[in-house]
Amino acid sequence: VVELIDVQKWYGAFHVLKDVNLSVKKGEKVVVCGPSGSGKSTMIRCVNRLEEHQGGRIVVGGIELADDLKAIEAIRKDVGMVFQSFNLFPHLTVLENLTLAPLWVKHIPKAEAEDLAMQLLKRVRIPDQAKKYPGQLSGGQQQRVAIARALAMKPSIMLFDEPTSALDPEMVKEVLDVMIELAGEGMTMICVTHEMGFARAVADTMVFMAEGRVIETAPPQQFFSDPKSERTRQFLGQII
Ligand code: ATP
Ligand code: MG
Repeated sequence: VVELIDVQKWYGAFHVLKDVNLSVKKGEKVVVCGPSGSGKSTMIRCVNRLEEHQGGRIVVGGIELADDLKAIEAIRKDVGMVFQSFNLFPHLTVLENLTLAPLWVKHIPKAEAEDLAMQLLKRVRIPDQAKKYPGQLSGGQQQRVAIARALAMKPSIMLFDEPTSALDPEMVKEVLDVMIELAGEGMTMICVTHEMGFARAVADTMVFMAEGRVIETAPPQQFFSDPKSERTRQFLGQII
């Protein structure tokens, strides 16, 4: 459902994505890792058009990402994203954060949107936090609200960009547990993360990026035990 074919991207004169190829099937979980600055965030931000690519093709759910605004809107509704820095609206309560897009983008009746929001808060195990503001929650709770907010649009694909790297260690697990559960429900997921325990548990496919290129794509067993590229081997040696 997601295809990147020879994708090229430049920031000015800087060639940030070089011939990037990635193919993600429905229900597949892809974990992307690689050194800082290798283009991981840029790549997944291209998938929902937070960034524009300049060469090659990106096809999401059968729709080619081009300048057609209608197509981009359709893809944004279908692709949820969770960032490192939760990006919640600070002046809205948790419940309002969750109902905002369903109300204003999908025009769902308020009672229905609130029902769905409460169901999602139960699913991420913080139904008791609905009336609070993001600033009154722990980092782990905020990130679970961010996941629930993305799910409120009923996306068929979820993108995660280092969702646990801004969290204190004791909060990492509660967020990963929610992601593992989501994976178990069959969600299609592309996760940039260096949580290799999570990757081993959940990934169907591991991707290693360096200097704007996909260096290696492999199933986790092979990726961790017998990486083909020396660059991957070195990287894994540093983080595991
Ligand atoms: P990290 O692990 O630190 O998050 P990353 O792999 O996600 O790194 P990107 O954020 O995709 O890397 O950045 C790739 C390269 O592009 C970096 O060299 C970065 O400095 C550069 N870059 C990112 N965003 C911009 C921008 N808006 N303008 C110019 N250069 C950028
Ligand atoms: Mg990044």
